[in-house]
Amino acid sequence: MFDPKSLKAPEFIDHQEVLDSLAYADENKNNRAVLDEIIAKARQHKGLSHREASVLLATDDPEINAQIFELAREIKKAYYGNRIVLFAPLYLSNYCINGCVYCPYHLKNKHIPRKKLTQEEIEREVIALQDMGHKRLAIESGEDPKNNPIEYILESIKTIYNIKHKNGAIRRVNVNIAATTVENYKKLKDAGIGTYILFQETYHRESYEKLHPTGPKHDYCYHTEAMDRAMDGGIDDVGLGVLFGLELYRYEFCALLMHAEHLEAVHGVGPHTISFPRVKRADDIDPNAFDNGISDDTFIKIIACARVAVPYTGMIISTRESKEVRERALEVGISQISGASRTSVGGYVDEEPEDESSAQFDVSDKRTLDQVISWLMQLGYVPSFCTACYREGRTGDRFMALCKSNQILNCCHPNALMTLKEYLQDYASPITKLIGDKLIQNELGTIPNQKIRSFVEKNLVKIENGERDFRI
Ligand code: SAM
Repeated sequence: MFDPKSLKAPEFIDHQEVLDSLAYADENKNNRAVLDEIIAKARQHKGLSHREASVLLATDDPEINAQIFELAREIKKAYYGNRIVLFAPLYLSNYCINGCVYCPYHLKNKHIPRKKLTQEEIEREVIALQDMGHKRLAIESGEDPKNNPIEYILESIKTIYNIKHKNGAIRRVNVNIAATTVENYKKLKDAGIGTYILFQETYHRESYEKLHPTGPKHDYCYHTEAMDRAMDGGIDDVGLGVLFGLELYRYEFCALLMHAEHLEAVHGVGPHTISFPRVKRADDIDPNAFDNGISDDTFIKIIACARVAVPYTGMIISTRESKEVRERALEVGISQISGASRTSVGGYVDEEPEDESSAQFDVSDKRTLDQVISWLMQLGYVPSFCTACYREGRTGDRFMALCKSNQILNCCHPNALMTLKEYLQDYASPITKLIGDKLIQNELGTIPNQKIRSFVEKNLVKIENGERDFRI
């Protein structure tokens, strides 16, 4: 029985409710009156229900599709402006006791080299990341209580925050580790993590159980209810995601929105972010083995519909996707991207020979961070290394309030400009610096509040003179 307020996964992600919503979407995907009504609601920028958004995803009416893309662009601009937040993943360990059939870290894969970074190795990786200009990381690890216990993760977070090298600093560590207990989530919260990220992989229970045949991750309910435990443990910002390609995308999209509605209904705040990964080739993994791969066009439409459905949620795309796909995705809703990522354990310091790779999957966008920054700016975006909200305690509903009150231009935008300036001073190539300094000058004029504008102008000079870490 569908109940968004229930704490039981089969009730807040009720299978029948997903099926009924998809049937409703099929019945109405060409119904102009229903479509117009949903578009009119979406124009209020307050989001859509899983059913409404499912109708938009199902429609192939070209006029409605054009309106969806237009709205997605408009909503993104209204809430996120032209800022794009940058991050990088840091793989700590690929030891894993699960049997996920799409992931090369699965226990039965005997030819992938197993690696776990020592604290000294983490330090070297983080210095390499700082030297590129990164300020925000997402740590990744396989699930293995013996090799990667929570104490190892906590120690690693501490190590990362403590590394100060030249002007570098990692100011926000997001964590993508397996579902765990409330007690462990409390420990992660106390360690000062940013977002707790956990991909659902698939919301379809039967498929989930087949795709995760062995190991603790097999337990669908424990995995699906993880975000509730994380929030009970005091973590305000949680990040959802499904791995597109495993199941039918319309099912996943609908259930993903039901999960977001559930978090809002129970905890008063929806997901901080939603990630959009697709299955990729990897050691022992052929993405063609999964029947539900989606085309780039469908993928972009999913992103646009999500942007319209959850206007305040940050949306993330990784280097799994090519430059071309990322460019299209940025336009219709993505607000955070990774850059210059390595998905192997220790990959920022040591290039691994291809046949000995510990990588989790192939990356499509292999550009350097400098190239990514320069590309973003040439597309008219402001790359941002800002981590201010979380450091100022603006997490969970406080962040959402800022977003909803449209104060981004007076807060996030100035912070983006100041952190971009730091990047340009410390890490950019001469040509990127040139483009960036010009961009900052142009963007200063868009800060509505005069006091804030002059605060930023003064700080930009201070940054040129060597000071760092200003924020609103
Ligand atoms: N082990 C943790 C867990 O169970 O959630 C951490 C996550 S893992 C390091 C990060 C994510 O990579 C997974 O949640 C999965 O969605 C994704 N992934 C695994 N195999 C992949 C593949 N072949 N292509 C693309 N993404 C993949």
